[in-house]
Formats: sequence, C-alpha cells, structure tokens
Amino acid sequence: MLQPRSLLDAQTIAARVRELGQQIERDYAGKDLVIVVVLCGSFVFAADLVRAIALPLSIDFFGLRSYGDATQSSGVVRITHDLARSVEGKDVLLVEDIVDTGLTVQFLIDTLKTRAPRSLKLAALLHKPARSRVQVPIDYLGFTIDDVFVVGYGLDCAQRYRNLPYLGVVDEGG
Ligand code: 5GP
Repeated sequence: MLQPRSLLDAQTIAARVRELGQQIERDYAGKDLVIVVVLCGSFVFAADLVRAIALPLSIDFFGLRSYGDATQSSGVVRITHDLARSVEGKDVLLVEDIVDTGLTVQFLIDTLKTRAPRSLKLAALLHKPARSRVQVPIDYLGFTIDDVFVVGYGLDCAQRYRNLPYLGVVDEGG
C-alpha cells in the first residue's frame, strides 16, 4: 500500500484546529454547547477540536452511512447511530470532516432542526467548493481544498488510512 502524498501536514492541521477551537470558545461562552460528532470520519478532528475549547460542553454522536458507491455522495443516507440525548433548547455545533457536495450536511441540518435546538451551527475541517451541489454555510471551516479524494486524520478509503496523522491524497494505483 503506497503512502499517501501529503496535502496538509499534522502541524498545519493542529494549528488551524487550535484557531477554530479558540473562535468557538469565544462564540459559545455562557451557552449550553453540545458538540455533535458525525461518525466515522470526524472522530479525529472532533477529538482535537474539543480539546481546544476550554468551556463546559457535552458531546454526542451521529452515525451515518451513505448509500451508493464510496467516493460519490448520493445524499441518501441512513442513520446508523442516533443521538443519545435530546438537543432541544441546546446550542448545537455539528462537527463534520468534509463538505463535498453538501448533501450529507444538508440532510444532517434538516434532521437536527426537527429536534428543536436553540441554535445550530456547522464546523467542518474541509470544504471542496468545486463539487458543491447545495450551498450550506460553514460557520467554522478548517481548509478549502481542490477536488481531490483525501484520506487520513480520520478520513478513510475503504476503511483504511483513518489513523494517518496527516491529510493525504492517494494517487492512481495507490
Ligand atoms: P457530501 O454529501 O458532502 O458529498 O459528502 C460528505 C461525505 O462524503 C463526507 O462526510 C465524507 O464521509 C465523504 N467524503 C467526501 N469527500 C471525501 C474525500 O475526499 N475523502 C474521504 N475519505 N471521504 C470523503
């Protein structure tokens, strides 16, 4: 298995995640913050992000599985794990790994809105604007990237590479 070529190294990611954490900390001071982590790809980003937010907060998880093939989002997703607690009246921050077409995040926002949170915002590590099919405002964005398939830092290709400490690109044949 080829080592993916580096797109964003671990130090660059760590510095940006710390900045996002500080921004979130300022914006959510005094609020009832619930971090909703979208499984599985966001688990590494979320683990670093929450440790950069020095506020009382709680964490819950949303598990999703897309229908269709692995690299093309159909936007048709199945909930494989629902939130353990109600978010009614809470200040919810949704934490996503990557907004590609935007269809998955649109589904998540529509679903969470029906749960009557007091506020709902989105943090995403990555955005690929070239592939957007729906416009979803990203309140806290790590990096904008080109239209490449990235792995590492929680993101997989056929379940591999999630443990890679950086974000990389698997070249053809890799
Ligand atoms: P969307 O519905 O926005 O097209 O797709 C979102 C989901 O597709 C992400 O949460 C992620 O799981 C997956 N995805 C999109 N682009 C990539 C990518 O470049 N690499 C990996 N590993 N997953 C991706």
